[in-house]
Amino acid sequence: LSTLKIAIGAMELTKKSVRDVMTDIDDVFMLSEDQVLNAETMTRVSDSGYTRIPVYEGNNRNKVKNLLYVSDLALIGKDNNITVKAVARFNKRRLRIVDENMPLTALMDEFKMGDYHLAMVAKALDVKKHHNGKFVDDKMDNFILKSMKLVEATVLPAVDASEDHPVTLVGLITLEDITEELLQAEITDE
Ligand code: ADP
Repeated sequence: LSTLKIAIGAMELTKKSVRDVMTDIDDVFMLSEDQVLNAETMTRVSDSGYTRIPVYEGNNRNKVKNLLYVSDLALIGKDNNITVKAVARFNKRRLRIVDENMPLTALMDEFKMGDYHLAMVAKALDVKKHHNGKFVDDKMDNFILKSMKLVEATVLPAVDASEDHPVTLVGLITLEDITEELLQAEITDE
């Protein structure tokens, strides 16, 4: 892989947002916190091949609260019929939610700080955006900033999934999705 290719990949990153590279919500493997960790569920988890699994409340896939690490299951017997909720509460794996419009470079910066490498993605977060000292409406903000090519300024801090946020989840993104984007860049003449 040439240095040039990576440099181009880095430039491409600056034009993209989380939405462009995330895994679609319909393809996200999750567990309900009510699920019992029996042999069948354990097999589903290991067959999924994922190391981190979002956990949702009841049967509401939109209400994701925290994460289950596959490694958290290592010491659990298949016959104990322990629930996902019990394991998730014990391990307290924090899950964050980011805005679908977050520029990839901004999320890359957050991931680089090392505190987390996976986030749920929400449709325009239901929080007022703070820009230039005044709060503006979501739609207005995007429209004005996009037309001014100042999309970077729309960066919102990630929010904690455990605090009730009225959001619509649209996907999941990990560091892997960003690095892949960096490395697969094609050199095209535009
Ligand atoms: P893992 O460590 O589980 O292999 P990675 O961070 O390497 O996950 O991500 C690999 C790909 O799998 C990425 O495209 C990411 O969006 C996706 N991914 C990660 N976790 C899940 C999950 N629970 N359900 C669906 N896709 C996932």
